[in-house]
Amino acid sequence: MNKEIATPLRTRAILEKYGFSFKKSLGQNFLIDTNILQKIVSYADLTEETGVIEIGPGIGALTEQLAKKAKKVIAFEIDQRLLPVLNDTLSPYENVTILHHDFLKADVVKAIEDNLANLEDRVLVANLPYYITTPIIMKCLEEHLPLRSLVVMMQKEVGDRLIAKPGSKNYGSLSIAVQYYSTAEIVMNVPKTVFIPQPNVDSVVVRLTLRKKPLVEVVDEDFFFTVTKASFAQRRKTIINNLIHGLPQGKEKKEDIVSILHETGIDSTRRGETLSIEEFALLSNKLLTLYS
Ligand code: SAM
Repeated sequence: MNKEIATPLRTRAILEKYGFSFKKSLGQNFLIDTNILQKIVSYADLTEETGVIEIGPGIGALTEQLAKKAKKVIAFEIDQRLLPVLNDTLSPYENVTILHHDFLKADVVKAIEDNLANLEDRVLVANLPYYITTPIIMKCLEEHLPLRSLVVMMQKEVGDRLIAKPGSKNYGSLSIAVQYYSTAEIVMNVPKTVFIPQPNVDSVVVRLTLRKKPLVEVVDEDFFFTVTKASFAQRRKTIINNLIHGLPQGKEKKEDIVSILHETGIDSTRRGETLSIEEFALLSNKLLTLYS
């Protein structure tokens, strides 16, 4: 029987057999540590009834560990050169389907309907291509993919932003968007040494558990995110300054924006990074009245 894909020896043998050369532009850093992979998988709480979505299976290191625990795995891979490799390495696992798609452009809801519809429990697990970490996470959240959670490895700096609380330097519109839809936690630190090739950055595994309903009630989600983005456009500026410059007709509406901040109990000289998500919700619901 073959050794597991993620052992350094077998990984090197597979890469050699196919003459595979890594593409930095596709964020290709493969995991070569079975213990780390099994630990990542343990944070996804898979059962024999779980359907898994993976992004970027590479040569199948993580896919293999997922296939052993879950009912079914679908994996999106953009790099055509990896298709014959995956066909070979994952041939012992009948519960894996590889989809040759760019995840960012794929109709993931349809892929779930086609492949995982009869499963009630679904999670996304991935060692993400780091160059598109944020767009991938935002796609999953904004498209309301029917998932229990996302267990995803990423660059430590991005992980720190996802879990940041008000008042910290990492807190911003990304923290708010992620925490609006999910509870976010860093569950694991991962050293550079378990990848081939080794990345230049430190990595963490983040678990996002999707909320049944959003953290706060907002009347218009798009407008809520417009307000949060505007509030952090220039971090050193006060909230009033950022809103005047970032909201539609902000300058003309200055007086109204000042009174709304006052009514909401938010000092207009505060900086965006000091406002809680609840305060942003109250504020955006009131500011919306200026546009109706
Ligand atoms: N899962 C493997 C592992 O842990 O060893 C590989 C992870 S590697 C960090 C990222 C993978 O994502 C690569 O296989 C890369 O080709 C793939 N990838 C990059 N951009 C992608 C995209 N837009 N859609 C789908 N896969 C992508």
